[in-house]
Amino acid sequence: MDKISVIVSCYNEEKSLPLFYEEIEKVRKEDFNDINFEYIFVDDGSKDKTLEEIKKLQQDDEKVRYISFSRNFGKEAAMFAGIEASTGDYVTLMDADLQDPPKLLKKMYDTIKNEGYDCVGTRRVTRKGEPPIRSFFARMFYKIINKMSDVEMVDGARDYRLMTRQMIEAIKSLKEYNRYSKGLWSFVGFKTKWIEYENIERVAGETKWSFWKLFKYALEGITAFSTTPLIMSSVLGLLFCLIAFIIILIIIIRTLVYGDPTSGWPSMVCIIFFVSGIQLFSLGIIGQYLSKTYLEVKNRPIYIVKETEKDLK
Ligand code: UDP
Ligand code: MG
Repeated sequence: MDKISVIVSCYNEEKSLPLFYEEIEKVRKEDFNDINFEYIFVDDGSKDKTLEEIKKLQQDDEKVRYISFSRNFGKEAAMFAGIEASTGDYVTLMDADLQDPPKLLKKMYDTIKNEGYDCVGTRRVTRKGEPPIRSFFARMFYKIINKMSDVEMVDGARDYRLMTRQMIEAIKSLKEYNRYSKGLWSFVGFKTKWIEYENIERVAGETKWSFWKLFKYALEGITAFSTTPLIMSSVLGLLFCLIAFIIILIIIIRTLVYGDPTSGWPSMVCIIFFVSGIQLFSLGIIGQYLSKTYLEVKNRPIYIVKETEKDLK
């Protein structure tokens, strides 16, 4: 009998958790009566009663497992912890806020089983209910990153996906500290089918992603999956050398022909400002990569576990 592991990362989700559990159980009973399930709730250092809610679920249902972090490590770390702990033949990742409809699971499972895919991903075709500014920047981000990176990032792709054990093992072998899952999934390859659906708003609680957090996450994606910015700064440097060389030639010739009346102070200041701006910008880019390398070299654990369901026994 097949087993599906459902990994749910939770950060301050006390209100949505019971609703989520009810919904996923309904789907399991209706669509999956001959398949084993395991639910892995990853409590990402929640400050509310999320852990208590999970423990309540665990008492009545032995399919429920959990991992509780010592502090908030972020969704990427939570998903990775769930992946490492999962034992199912198929693994799915879901949000606790029901924005990833459990109802789609049957269709995803059938696609893998009958059509020979290794992975079924979901993508939102609308961004209904999201601030327009946020949608605009999200679209821009996908345009830019797909130009810069060899790894394809699908616009609107969610973290909600069902994967085979083989693909999960491949993901587990990527132990980098700066995790950008959207890229990691493309990086490992395998055949992926995309299922589209309309955006659904969260059932309870509120989003944990501020604009600034998303911006940093976008930078993470770019530095983790592309070195194009580094090439760009080299090209800029070369271009400026070329321009300088041409200007030097012009000035030498002009001086030889017309003599040397000293002028051009304002243009000089502009040029100095412009060029030093470009220099700082390039230094910043290099700094980004250096800081990522620094964090990677330190080799710190991706997450720290405080307790799991095994501690209850
Ligand atoms: N989440 C998490 N750790 C965090 C932030 C979020 O585990 O630091 C979880 C959160 O509980 C939810 C999922 O990630 O299950 C998606 O978060 P959210 O709904 O806030 O993001 P949005 O859907 O608005 O992009
Ligand atoms: Mg959400």
